[in-house]
Amino acid sequence: MASYDQVIIGGGLSGLAAGIRLARFGYKVLILEKHAIAGGLNSYYYRQGRLLETGLHAMTNYAPPVSKSAPLNRLFRQLKLSRKKFLTHQQLRSTIYFPDGHALSFSNDLELLRGEVARLFPGSINRFNSLVELIDRYDPFVNRPWRSAKDRLHELLDNERLLNMLLWPLMMYGNCNEHDMDFDQFVIMFQAVFLEGFFRPAGNIKDFLDLLLGHYRALGGEIRFRAPVKHFAIVDKQVNTVVLESGEEIAAGQVISTVGYPATLQFMASESGPAETAGYRGRMSFIEIINILPSEYRKKIRSDETIIFYNLDEPFDYCCPDEAVNVNCGVICFPDNFHDLAPGAEFQLRVTHPANYQVWKSYAPEEYATMKKLWADRSAGKVGEIIGNYREKVLYQDVFTPTTIEKFTGKANGAIYGSPIKLKEGTTPLANLFVAGTDQGYLGIVGAMLSGVTMVNKHIFKEN
Ligand SMILES: Cc1cc2nc3c(=O)[nH]c(=O)nc-3n(C[C@H](O)[C@H](O)[C@H](O)COP(=O)(O)OP(=O)(O)OC[C@H]3O[C@@H](n4cnc5c(N)ncnc54)[C@H](O)[C@@H]3O)c2cc1C
Repeated sequence: MASYDQVIIGGGLSGLAAGIRLARFGYKVLILEKHAIAGGLNSYYYRQGRLLETGLHAMTNYAPPVSKSAPLNRLFRQLKLSRKKFLTHQQLRSTIYFPDGHALSFSNDLELLRGEVARLFPGSINRFNSLVELIDRYDPFVNRPWRSAKDRLHELLDNERLLNMLLWPLMMYGNCNEHDMDFDQFVIMFQAVFLEGFFRPAGNIKDFLDLLLGHYRALGGEIRFRAPVKHFAIVDKQVNTVVLESGEEIAAGQVISTVGYPATLQFMASESGPAETAGYRGRMSFIEIINILPSEYRKKIRSDETIIFYNLDEPFDYCCPDEAVNVNCGVICFPDNFHDLAPGAEFQLRVTHPANYQVWKSYAPEEYATMKKLWADRSAGKVGEIIGNYREKVLYQDVFTPTTIEKFTGKANGAIYGSPIKLKEGTTPLANLFVAGTDQGYLGIVGAMLSGVTMVNKHIFKEN
């Protein structure tokens, strides 16, 4: 039987980061990934000769290489990767749209957002400045119980419209809860999006994944693709062996699972009956529509921003819609609109809306295909009201739904941001099993990688 010091389940970004950190210090480490390629929620596929990214709109937490203490640069140091050689493109400018013409633009320079708040909400600028000061000093990584961000922001800002406009992008890019958000998570996301900002790595997500995989392997780490884990053999409340769908058993000293807590509970439950996963199944899922348009059409639509976060619902509520999709709110992303990116013959327009997993799951296969077309069309109609009509010019379109996300990542209910209950400590009922990634509590690409590294430092290296 093969035997490893450390087995990591999942070759997404948290698994790769954890693997690199362990391999760097000489551990015999194996990553088990059920798919044929790495990346998980943030991966890629090919259609009609084009490489399409599954997730990447933008990475958060931008920092120039000189900012030594910035999370992005700390992450690179921990992984022993050169930050200077990692070329990045910063966002141009993004905007938050709400009803009645309310619009707030922001970039990687906080002064733009500050000026916008002063222009749109002059009576609230002093309170906004105090909020920024508070967030600058605040440590969100202390293990506090869940606290309502909305209540706290009501106290701090006393302006319903402003607080909802600030919450909207942070919720869309990192909130597993409906209706409200944990205040600590709000602070993490505020720092990541408004204080640090959006960027893209040079090239595409495949280049980034290749960089991580090449580095991991060069350090002696092993990865097996098409190796889905089925369950654990447990002895004395410890994982003894990891059992694959194929029946193969792999002995493991310690195990880090990045597949989400509901799936991890299933691995543990195989010998003691079905697992109680209900409380850990998130409800926030999304539909993503990728449109490829001819470059010359760029000037015909409003396409000078990087990301537009729009909400036309009154009152505003971040929640799972009753219908298949809520096109009244969403994210419009132009992944080609970052500084110093040369325009190509085509450009991409990606649109994301909240979507209902149960509704999508209920469709029969033919109905599913029809509904994808129908909702992509409704989306184009609504998004066209904001940026101008593009529907007739689409060269290629692909749509993925909550069930696509569940199928390709194993995330219960297609919930990208995972369980509404986060396991901040990363511990489980089994002494040598730890959780990293989305359900541990850090979200997004940089967040997932930080989670992998942090859990290794804390539980394997026993650093405080
Ligand atoms: C549409 C979309 C857009 C996004 N946009 C952005 C963005 O612009 N910026 C950003 O920062 N973040 C974005 N994200 C979020 C980001 O992708 C995730 O937060 C991050 O990648 C999560 O990484 P992870 O390692 O925790 O989990 P995952 O990526 O889910 O990795 C888990 C891995 O485990 C594997 N696995 C599952 N079950 C098993 C099993 N039984 N055995 C073996 N392996 C298994 C899966 O195949 C997967 O590879 C987006 C996500 C989506 C879906």
